[in-house]
Amino acid sequence: MKIGIIGAGQLGRMLALAGYPLGQRFVFLDHSPEAPGGQVGQIICGEFGDPQRLAELAARVDVLTYDVENVPAEAVAEIARRTPFLPPPAALAAGQDRLSEKRLFEQLGIPSPDYHTVDSRPQLEAAVAALGMPCVLKTRRLGYDGRGQHVLRAAADVGVAWTKLGGVPLILERFVHFEREVSIIGVRSTKGEVAHYPLTENTHADGILVRSQAPYEASALERTARDYLCRLLEHFDYAGVLTLEMFVADGRLIANEIAPRVHNSGHWTIEGAVTSQFENHVRAILGLPLGDTRPLGHSVMLNLIGRMPRLDAILRVRGAHYHDYGKTPRPGRKLGHCTVVAATPELRDAAMAELLHCLD
Ligand code: AMP
Repeated sequence: MKIGIIGAGQLGRMLALAGYPLGQRFVFLDHSPEAPGGQVGQIICGEFGDPQRLAELAARVDVLTYDVENVPAEAVAEIARRTPFLPPPAALAAGQDRLSEKRLFEQLGIPSPDYHTVDSRPQLEAAVAALGMPCVLKTRRLGYDGRGQHVLRAAADVGVAWTKLGGVPLILERFVHFEREVSIIGVRSTKGEVAHYPLTENTHADGILVRSQAPYEASALERTARDYLCRLLEHFDYAGVLTLEMFVADGRLIANEIAPRVHNSGHWTIEGAVTSQFENHVRAILGLPLGDTRPLGHSVMLNLIGRMPRLDAILRVRGAHYHDYGKTPRPGRKLGHCTVVAATPELRDAAMAELLHCLD
């Protein structure tokens, strides 16, 4: 089979790397010929929403998937009529708009922070008065890695946030004083088979994921997380990998957002689980039996952001694996990641300290 991936970023590259051993072949669509996927497959150059380039991609493959969420919904609806497009366009559309996402959570009984829609400065002021501070103003669309959001802590922040983000549809959300952030990654195949990875604990800095650790040992929370995830998978008659990001506050799970795709918080599964999220995504969209999602030990994944550490320094750490996406360094840009899988949480933490030393 040939698989077309819209977006040739690191996620697309890792999907292809996982799919080749299964005999699959990959073609990408991306606006940059330098994108990471180009190292492992051909890139058709064009915008994600360009109907001609999408049709060209679709004509060359058996099934379409994506590694980016900002594929225009209209273009997707058109192409999905002719070529299988998975995960389903409805899930992609829900993940693109924070308001649709909120309504989805409400409909499925999944708790998420209180919010108000904001389309004007007076609406922002009214919403701040209703929710109280701190609160978070977010663009409904195209926000990622902390972009498109601003935390309001004092009256003066209202004007600052409006100047920064005003002019596009927004939501104002109650600030969650969370103890931890976690995510659960699940997968459902076109045959309806479902599997999930253990709960992963995530640490962000300036809205960017810097570290994931799994398994996060909290079986009661994991049962609830799996229940929420299954509601989402069934709702969309989903196929592929789906990620649900959540806060843990007062010991309860509160949903932050969904990512209807493979996710950065699941990179540890490449070496840390029997079957990676990437291989399982490929299996799922092709209707193949899903792979075992059990963890192989205690994993930590560190994102390499802005600049790459020395390869030999990372590889000297026992149990460490290095992933270089081949991107041009830029401040705040995810360039790669490294993972350690250890036999115990103590050994994992010791290895993590060594890795962090290499990143200094
Ligand atoms: P998001 O783009 O919504 O995933 O937000 C990026 C990061 O900002 C999250 O992982 C949190 O660390 C933080 N954040 C987002 N929304 C909230 C909230 N309502 N309360 C507290 N922190 C938040």
